[in-house]
Amino acid sequence: MFIKPQPLTQIADVVVVGAGPAGIAAATAASRCGRSVLVIDDNPAPGGQIWRQGLPSQRKFDADGVTRDRAVEQMLAAGVRVASGCRVIDAPDRATLRAYREEDGAVLHVLYGKLILATGARERFLPFPGWTLPGVFGAGGLQALVKGGYEVAGKRVVVAGTGPLLLAVAAHLHDYGAKVVAMAEQAPAWKLAAFSATMLTNPSKLMQGAGYRGRVIGTPYQAGTWPMAAIAGEGGLLRAVKLSNGKKTWEVACDMLACGFHLVPNTELAALLGCELRGDFVKVDANQQTSQQGIYCAGEPTGIGGLDAALAEGEIAGLAAAGQPTTHLQKRAEAGRKFAAGLERTFALRPELRTLAAPDTVFCRCEDVQTASLAGHHSWTEAKLQTRCGMGPCQGRICGPAAEVVFGWKNASVRQPIFPTPVGALCSNDSIEENA
Ligand SMILES: Cc1cc2nc3c(=O)[nH]c(=O)nc-3n(C[C@H](O)[C@H](O)[C@H](O)COP(=O)(O)OP(=O)(O)OC[C@H]3O[C@@H](n4cnc5c(N)ncnc54)[C@H](O)[C@@H]3O)c2cc1C
Repeated sequence: MFIKPQPLTQIADVVVVGAGPAGIAAATAASRCGRSVLVIDDNPAPGGQIWRQGLPSQRKFDADGVTRDRAVEQMLAAGVRVASGCRVIDAPDRATLRAYREEDGAVLHVLYGKLILATGARERFLPFPGWTLPGVFGAGGLQALVKGGYEVAGKRVVVAGTGPLLLAVAAHLHDYGAKVVAMAEQAPAWKLAAFSATMLTNPSKLMQGAGYRGRVIGTPYQAGTWPMAAIAGEGGLLRAVKLSNGKKTWEVACDMLACGFHLVPNTELAALLGCELRGDFVKVDANQQTSQQGIYCAGEPTGIGGLDAALAEGEIAGLAAAGQPTTHLQKRAEAGRKFAAGLERTFALRPELRTLAAPDTVFCRCEDVQTASLAGHHSWTEAKLQTRCGMGPCQGRICGPAAEVVFGWKNASVRQPIFPTPVGALCSNDSIEENA
């Protein structure tokens, strides 16, 4: 039987999209200034990526759990309402969002005075032979699975790609009993050394990095090294990873490959709302306001700067949305921006990564499109229309950023709904029930 889901209306002075550190900080700050605040987040519980909540049985490894729990408690104590498990899919007009609630298929109509976008980032994947084999995971994705109870004890794992997340993931997997057999970072050693030197003025970050490295000190960390191929063994399962440093290639036997090439900001909702982008990121002023009056953006969509930057920017956005001064936070935000710029320089992708995929390597895994089918096209739109690349469930969130690196194509357009949504839910806007 088809039951048509009923839409619900929610109203708040300030609506925050995303309950990661930036969203939590923004919501708490705005609510403490007396504004009614609603946070919408698509995860089952607040925390976002770095503060992702795991199973209670895994809490002994949840190093950030205490900080997260305190931040969430403070947010709730400030009177913030949280709609977890809800994904913003659309912005039908300048004061309304629509969010799909997976639990019951309802569509929430959310009316806001001010809007804060704290939608975070996702991992960048690049195609190489074997990257779709069972046993190959996104680095942060595997970390999230493990927090949710996925077993890695005793497994031999290679961690490869680029970015500071690799070290955090390696340390985390080690804590859960995995045997991290190799870490391959594509950035050259000289860039990493220069970046570490700049960190001398940021001792807490330096200590954090050293702490992660200390936990996997027995594992070689190979700079200037990248994955060339994931090799299948018996039953089509991952058997080994082929690594290269440009001079030679070698194989490392493993059960799992955790692989990611830094992060891509989630800017789709900002783009849909007409916010100007600067390069890959949402352009904001000192108060985190975007080019659209009354719409603010904080955390990873404005620059990949990690936890401290997300917290500072979130608080600024929350205060600014409530009409309060933010001068006292500007120094912290500036430090975050500097750190983000350092990460971007250090972990810039080397040209060799553009040619890893073979002609028969799957490029778009949702629609099963091979690299060779894309080669003759001139733009993302043309490739999409001719091959269905990027038209599957992830809507190009994985292959789009990869196509930008490999072919230099920019994805210029964003359409609503920004996430796949059941047609029944999209048609459910004829009966609005007030509940706010
Ligand atoms: C997979 C992954 C793992 C990471 N692990 C670590 C780590 O271990 N250590 C570390 O230092 N850094 C880690 N990072 C980096 C991390 O993103 C930042 O340090 C920090 O979490 C940024 O906070 P944020 O609030 O900007 O974004 P996030 O923490 O990413 O929070 C954004 C939230 O918004 C939600 N969201 C996005 N779009 C919508 C929408 N349309 N509707 C509803 N909700 C939406 C997301 O699901 C998420 O819950 C990780 C990043 C990724 C992608």
